[in-house]
Amino acid sequence: MTTITSRLKQVGDRIAAACQANRRDAASVRLLAVSKTFGVDAVLDALGAGQMAFGENYITEGVEKIAALRHSATLEWHCIGPVQSNKTRLVAEHFDWVQSVDRLKIAQRLNEQRPPQAPPLQICLQVNIDGGTNKSGVMPGELMALMEEVVKLPRLRLRGLMTIPEPAADFAAACAVHSKAKALFDQVNSAGVLAEPMDTLSMGMTADLEAAIAAGSTMVRVGTAIFGGR
Ligand SMILES: *Cc1c(COP(=O)(O)O)cnc(C)c1O
Repeated sequence: MTTITSRLKQVGDRIAAACQANRRDAASVRLLAVSKTFGVDAVLDALGAGQMAFGENYITEGVEKIAALRHSATLEWHCIGPVQSNKTRLVAEHFDWVQSVDRLKIAQRLNEQRPPQAPPLQICLQVNIDGGTNKSGVMPGELMALMEEVVKLPRLRLRGLMTIPEPAADFAAACAVHSKAKALFDQVNSAGVLAEPMDTLSMGMTADLEAAIAAGSTMVRVGTAIFGGR
């Protein structure tokens, strides 16, 4: 077994244990392997262990990996980093998901630039759930207005919400902030604005995936525990 294979198994065990502790079905939490700063070989190692979904923060780096691996396998690529206007075309042309949409202008550009032959781009709206200043993410109070516009864009499909809270002091504090995101997710889902409810609540990383799963995460984004320190 390679190191990445055994680490992936450990992460899978952590997810399974957290699901069991919270009486959740293990299949209700997906694992996104965050491969930023690691090369194509690391992605291939993870793929060999059955991991199909990968997250990238830096767009040009991600697009290089996507292009290099296009002929090896059909992987699912998630953009999870900040998207500037001048990078939307690259993102729309190469990624399957964008989890870091936090303003309408970016959503509109992704919608216009998504190639006609590709399936709709799968979108999560990034929410600034703990109100950190200078932070990406729409404020919770502005989420509904953004959502109402995003769902009108035909080349995007709204799948859920994504959060990146500040590191928490302890498990209880991590649970509290993730529970806030879960409450917001449930609230917007039941507001009657969406023809189709969102199915993805993307939260939890290496340090806090147990807390995120306890609160209701459906997708954890894990880098360090799989690929090592950056
Ligand atoms: C880097 C990153 C991750 C993974 O973080 P780890 O602590 O290495 O697991 C998850 N989500 C986002 C948005 C990131 O930038």
